Amino acid sequence: MIGFSCWFDGIRALASGRGRAWDWDRTAARRFSPILLEFMVGVGLLTATPLQAKLNVVTTTPDLAAIARAVGGEDVEVVSLARPTEDPHFVEPKPSMIVKLRQADVLIEGGAELESGWLPPLLGRAGNRKIAGDGPGHVLANQGIEMLEVPTELDRAKGDIHAAGNPHFLVDPVNAQILARHLGRVFARLDPQAAARYDANVSNWVEQISAKLAGWEQALAPFKGQTVVSYHNSWPYFARRFGLKIDLFLEPKPGIPPTPTHLAEVISQMKERRAHVVIVDRYLDRRTAEAVAGRTGATVVEVSQFPGGIKGTEGGYVELMDCLVRALAEALAR
Ligand SMILES: [Zn+2]
Repeated sequence: MIGFSCWFDGIRALASGRGRAWDWDRTAARRFSPILLEFMVGVGLLTATPLQAKLNVVTTTPDLAAIARAVGGEDVEVVSLARPTEDPHFVEPKPSMIVKLRQADVLIEGGAELESGWLPPLLGRAGNRKIAGDGPGHVLANQGIEMLEVPTELDRAKGDIHAAGNPHFLVDPVNAQILARHLGRVFARLDPQAAARYDANVSNWVEQISAKLAGWEQALAPFKGQTVVSYHNSWPYFARRFGLKIDLFLEPKPGIPPTPTHLAEVISQMKERRAHVVIVDRYLDRRTAEAVAGRTGATVVEVSQFPGGIKGTEGGYVELMDCLVRALAEALAR
């Protein structure tokens, strides 16, 4: 166990939700009858804050929310549907999410099918034209971002859940800067009175990230070319930015649970490549990562792509990246 201040060493991630795409009709309808659901949504709307001048922003995941807050500042109210400790591919739907979507002026989603298993039914039930498909407040966060691993051929039966390219692009700070500029333009268009403030916030934040990026690159520079093993293939953008190889995965395919045959191959590759760090997102099965680490003398590092996913990173994107870089550099130096 590693003792970072940003380290979360509590609950072990459970793998139980993994591999099951959520199905509205089978799961939620059983829990909430349509009438009850409408009633709960209605109560939510009645008890919600009255009309306000602030732009009401809903994001699918907490990383998008952190950047929206940085750009929107005092002029926006931002809420994320997914919690930072949830698997973003498999988020549990709740009636409160429909309420949030009904009240939203802006919806920010990844744009690369990360949320395709759970967002569309919620959006359909919210019936909010401002944020529907081609609505003025519907934002695809990956717009303008160069997507990695866009498959030329797709076979979903084999577990390819990254059909539009790898959707975990925000852990590259340069992509986060692209999104900040994009959100600045969207917010200014929807709320022209605050345009100058959005613009200033974007400039400040982008500048802050550039300054931090130099330090992050420096911290990881001694480990260029080293292999880091990951449970899920969610780090190719981070790997490219910082010169690491994060191309060995405990999952045989994204979303498919590890098998003994596959893990044996990973262990043999780890020995060959002298890989000695295994990263695992908090919502994934840490025990498998520890078993593999035990066989190879590797260190397990618990990671998150979401501010608040690891203790000490609640502050936002910068805090999260600080934590990730520090945790990895320390484990790689061992
Ligand atoms: Zn993924």
